[in-house]
Amino acid sequence: MNEHELRAQLITTARAMNARCLNRGTAGNLSARHGEGFLITPTGMAYDELVPADIVVMDLDGSRRGARKPSSEWRFHRDLYAARPEAGAVLHAHAPFATALACLGRDIPPFHYMIARFGGGTLRCAAYATFGTQELSDHALRALEGRCACLLANHGLLVFGRDLSHALDLAVEAEALCEQYWRASTLGRPPLLDDAEMQRVLEKFAGYGQQED
Ligand code: 13P
Ligand code: ZN
Repeated sequence: MNEHELRAQLITTARAMNARCLNRGTAGNLSARHGEGFLITPTGMAYDELVPADIVVMDLDGSRRGARKPSSEWRFHRDLYAARPEAGAVLHAHAPFATALACLGRDIPPFHYMIARFGGGTLRCAAYATFGTQELSDHALRALEGRCACLLANHGLLVFGRDLSHALDLAVEAEALCEQYWRASTLGRPPLLDDAEMQRVLEKFAGYGQQED
Protein backbone atom coordinates (compact mmCIF):
# COMPACT_ATOMS: atom_id res chain seq x y z
CA MET A 1 0.00 0.00 0.00
CA ASN A 2 1.41 3.42 -0.90
CA GLU A 3 1.60 6.29 1.57
CA HIS A 4 -1.47 8.07 0.21
CA GLU A 5 -3.62 4.95 0.46
CA LEU A 6 -2.38 4.29 3.98
CA ARG A 7 -3.21 7.87 5.07
CA ALA A 8 -6.77 7.35 3.79
CA GLN A 9 -7.07 3.96 5.52
CA LEU A 10 -5.82 5.47 8.78
CA ILE A 11 -8.61 8.08 8.67
CA THR A 12 -11.29 5.50 7.78
CA THR A 13 -10.16 3.25 10.64
CA ALA A 14 -9.97 6.16 13.11
CA ARG A 15 -13.58 7.08 12.22
CA ALA A 16 -14.57 3.43 12.67
CA MET A 17 -13.18 3.58 16.25
CA ASN A 18 -15.89 6.14 17.06
CA ALA A 19 -18.62 4.47 14.96
CA ARG A 20 -17.99 1.18 16.77
CA CYS A 21 -18.24 2.81 20.21
CA LEU A 22 -14.56 2.33 21.02
CA ASN A 23 -13.88 6.00 21.42
CA ARG A 24 -15.41 9.47 21.65
CA GLY A 25 -14.33 13.01 20.83
CA THR A 26 -10.62 13.57 20.33
CA ALA A 27 -9.56 10.81 22.73
CA GLY A 28 -7.50 7.94 21.36
CA ASN A 29 -5.01 7.73 18.51
CA LEU A 30 -4.04 5.38 15.70
CA SER A 31 -0.94 4.60 13.66
CA ALA A 32 0.30 2.24 10.95
CA ARG A 33 3.85 1.10 10.21
CA HIS A 34 5.20 2.51 6.96
CA GLY A 35 8.71 1.98 5.58
CA GLU A 36 11.27 2.63 8.33
CA GLY A 37 8.74 4.55 10.44
CA PHE A 38 5.01 5.02 10.80
CA LEU A 39 2.02 7.26 10.03
CA ILE A 40 0.04 8.60 13.01
CA THR A 41 -3.08 10.68 13.72
CA PRO A 42 -2.48 14.33 14.70
CA THR A 43 -3.00 15.44 18.31
CA GLY A 44 -6.32 16.91 19.42
CA MET A 45 -8.22 16.74 16.13
CA ALA A 46 -11.67 15.20 15.58
CA TYR A 47 -11.42 12.17 13.30
CA ASP A 48 -14.44 13.32 11.27
CA GLU A 49 -12.55 16.45 10.24
CA LEU A 50 -9.27 14.78 9.24
CA VAL A 51 -7.99 14.94 5.68
CA PRO A 52 -4.99 12.89 4.43
CA ALA A 53 -2.63 15.90 4.74
CA ASP A 54 -3.30 16.02 8.53
CA ILE A 55 -1.63 12.63 9.07
CA VAL A 56 1.90 12.91 10.46
CA VAL A 57 4.85 10.83 9.20
CA MET A 58 7.32 9.80 11.93
CA ASP A 59 10.63 7.97 12.09
CA LEU A 60 11.62 5.66 14.91
CA ASP A 61 14.03 8.34 16.19
CA GLY A 62 11.03 10.64 16.86
CA SER A 63 11.67 12.97 13.92
CA ARG A 64 8.56 13.92 11.96
CA ARG A 65 7.23 15.36 8.71
CA GLY A 66 3.88 17.08 8.24
CA ALA A 67 1.96 20.28 8.94
CA ARG A 68 0.36 18.91 12.12
CA LYS A 69 1.75 17.92 15.51
CA PRO A 70 1.57 14.14 16.06
CA SER A 71 -0.50 12.42 18.72
CA SER A 72 0.79 13.17 22.20
CA GLU A 73 1.15 9.38 22.59
CA TRP A 74 3.63 8.97 19.67
CA ARG A 75 6.16 7.49 22.13
CA PHE A 76 4.25 4.29 22.82
CA HIS A 77 3.44 3.95 19.11
CA ARG A 78 7.14 4.43 18.24
CA ASP A 79 8.35 2.11 21.01
CA LEU A 80 5.96 -0.65 19.92
CA TYR A 81 7.15 -0.53 16.29
CA ALA A 82 10.75 -0.64 17.51
CA ALA A 83 10.27 -3.49 20.00
CA ARG A 84 7.63 -5.65 18.30
CA PRO A 85 8.35 -6.51 14.65
CA GLU A 86 4.90 -8.16 14.35
CA ALA A 87 3.17 -4.80 15.04
CA GLY A 88 1.79 -3.27 11.81
CA ALA A 89 -0.75 -0.95 13.45
CA VAL A 90 -1.26 0.47 16.97
CA LEU A 91 -4.63 1.60 18.33
CA HIS A 92 -5.30 3.49 21.56
CA ALA A 93 -8.88 4.30 22.67
CA HIS A 94 -10.77 5.38 25.74
CA ALA A 95 -13.22 2.52 25.16
CA PRO A 96 -15.98 2.81 27.79
CA PHE A 97 -15.89 -0.64 29.41
CA ALA A 98 -12.12 -1.12 29.09
CA THR A 99 -11.54 2.35 30.53
CA ALA A 100 -13.93 1.84 33.44
CA LEU A 101 -12.10 -1.40 34.36
CA ALA A 102 -8.70 0.25 33.80
CA CYS A 103 -9.74 2.80 36.43
CA LEU A 104 -9.73 -0.07 38.95
CA GLY A 105 -6.07 -0.69 38.03
CA ARG A 106 -6.45 -4.47 37.92
CA ASP A 107 -5.61 -7.13 35.31
CA ILE A 108 -8.63 -8.83 33.67
CA PRO A 109 -8.38 -12.47 34.78
CA PRO A 110 -9.21 -15.56 32.66
CA PHE A 111 -12.97 -15.41 33.24
CA HIS A 112 -13.53 -16.30 29.54
CA TYR A 113 -11.34 -18.34 27.22
CA MET A 114 -11.19 -15.46 24.68
CA ILE A 115 -8.75 -13.64 26.99
CA ALA A 116 -6.15 -15.92 25.33
CA ARG A 117 -6.80 -14.15 22.00
CA PHE A 118 -4.47 -11.42 23.30
CA GLY A 119 -1.58 -13.82 23.92
CA GLY A 120 -1.83 -14.95 27.56
CA GLY A 121 -3.95 -15.87 30.53
CA THR A 122 -4.77 -12.29 31.54
CA LEU A 123 -5.29 -8.89 29.99
CA ARG A 124 -2.75 -6.90 31.99
CA CYS A 125 -3.27 -3.39 33.28
CA ALA A 126 -0.18 -1.15 32.89
CA ALA A 127 0.69 1.07 35.85
CA TYR A 128 -0.48 4.68 35.65
CA ALA A 129 1.72 7.44 34.28
CA THR A 130 0.83 10.85 32.81
CA PHE A 131 -0.45 10.72 29.22
CA GLY A 132 2.14 11.31 26.52
CA THR A 133 5.15 10.47 28.70
CA GLN A 134 8.02 8.04 28.18
CA GLU A 135 7.10 6.58 31.57
CA LEU A 136 3.64 5.64 30.25
CA SER A 137 5.22 4.04 27.18
CA ASP A 138 7.62 2.04 29.38
CA HIS A 139 4.76 0.79 31.56
CA ALA A 140 2.66 -0.08 28.48
CA LEU A 141 5.43 -2.04 26.77
CA ARG A 142 6.01 -4.04 29.96
CA ALA A 143 2.28 -4.87 30.20
CA LEU A 144 2.34 -5.92 26.52
CA GLU A 145 5.16 -8.45 26.91
CA GLY A 146 3.88 -11.60 25.17
CA ARG A 147 0.53 -9.86 24.55
CA CYS A 148 -1.09 -7.68 21.88
CA ALA A 149 -3.45 -5.73 24.18
CA CYS A 150 -3.41 -4.17 27.64
CA LEU A 151 -5.30 -1.70 29.78
CA LEU A 152 -3.67 1.57 30.85
CA ALA A 153 -4.54 2.34 34.48
CA ASN A 154 -6.87 5.35 34.93
CA HIS A 155 -6.74 5.89 31.17
CA GLY A 156 -7.88 3.35 28.53
CA LEU A 157 -7.06 0.53 26.13
CA LEU A 158 -3.98 -0.14 23.96
CA VAL A 159 -3.90 -2.77 21.20
CA PHE A 160 -1.67 -3.62 18.26
CA GLY A 161 -2.28 -5.84 15.25
CA ARG A 162 -0.62 -6.88 11.99
CA ASP A 163 -2.50 -4.12 10.13
CA LEU A 164 -5.19 -1.49 10.76
CA SER A 165 -8.21 -3.75 10.31
CA HIS A 166 -6.68 -6.42 12.55
CA ALA A 167 -5.96 -3.82 15.27
CA LEU A 168 -9.57 -2.57 15.02
CA ASP A 169 -10.95 -6.15 15.29
CA LEU A 170 -8.77 -6.83 18.35
CA ALA A 171 -9.88 -3.59 20.01
CA VAL A 172 -13.57 -4.45 19.43
CA GLU A 173 -12.94 -7.89 20.94
CA ALA A 174 -11.06 -6.49 23.95
CA GLU A 175 -13.86 -4.00 24.61
CA ALA A 176 -16.47 -6.79 24.28
CA LEU A 177 -14.57 -8.89 26.84
CA CYS A 178 -14.38 -5.95 29.24
CA GLU A 179 -18.14 -5.47 28.89
CA GLN A 180 -18.74 -9.19 29.54
CA TYR A 181 -16.46 -9.14 32.58
CA TRP A 182 -18.28 -6.07 33.89
CA ARG A 183 -21.71 -7.67 33.41
CA ALA A 184 -20.70 -11.03 34.89
CA SER A 185 -19.10 -9.27 37.88
CA THR A 186 -22.33 -7.44 38.68
CA LEU A 187 -23.97 -10.86 39.27
CA GLY A 188 -21.18 -12.40 41.31
CA ARG A 189 -17.53 -13.39 41.13
CA PRO A 190 -17.02 -15.31 37.87
CA PRO A 191 -15.11 -18.60 38.33
CA LEU A 192 -11.77 -18.45 36.50
CA LEU A 193 -10.22 -20.87 34.01
CA ASP A 194 -7.01 -22.42 35.34
CA ASP A 195 -3.51 -22.12 33.83
CA ALA A 196 -3.66 -25.56 32.18
CA GLU A 197 -6.92 -24.69 30.38
CA MET A 198 -5.62 -21.29 29.26
CA GLN A 199 -2.49 -23.04 27.94
CA ARG A 200 -4.70 -25.44 25.93
CA VAL A 201 -6.65 -22.51 24.50
CA LEU A 202 -3.44 -20.65 23.60
CA GLU A 203 -2.24 -23.74 21.70
CA LYS A 204 -5.58 -24.04 19.88
CA PHE A 205 -5.50 -20.35 18.94
CA ALA A 206 -2.06 -20.85 17.37
CA GLY A 207 -3.75 -22.88 14.62
CA TYR A 208 -7.24 -21.34 14.73
CA GLY A 209 -9.10 -20.02 11.68
CA GLN A 210 -8.34 -20.41 7.99
CA GLN A 211 -4.63 -21.06 8.39
CA GLU A 212 -2.63 -23.60 6.38
CA ASP A 213 -2.45 -27.01 8.16
P1 13P B 1 -3.96 12.84 21.21
O1 13P B 1 -5.12 13.69 20.71
O2 13P B 1 -2.72 13.66 21.47
O3 13P B 1 -3.71 11.63 20.33
O4 13P B 1 -4.34 12.32 22.68
C1 13P B 1 -5.47 11.57 22.95
C2 13P B 1 -5.21 10.61 24.04
O5 13P B 1 -5.98 9.68 24.18
C3 13P B 1 -4.05 10.78 24.97
O6 13P B 1 -3.85 9.66 25.74
ZN1 ZN C 1 -5.56 8.36 25.86
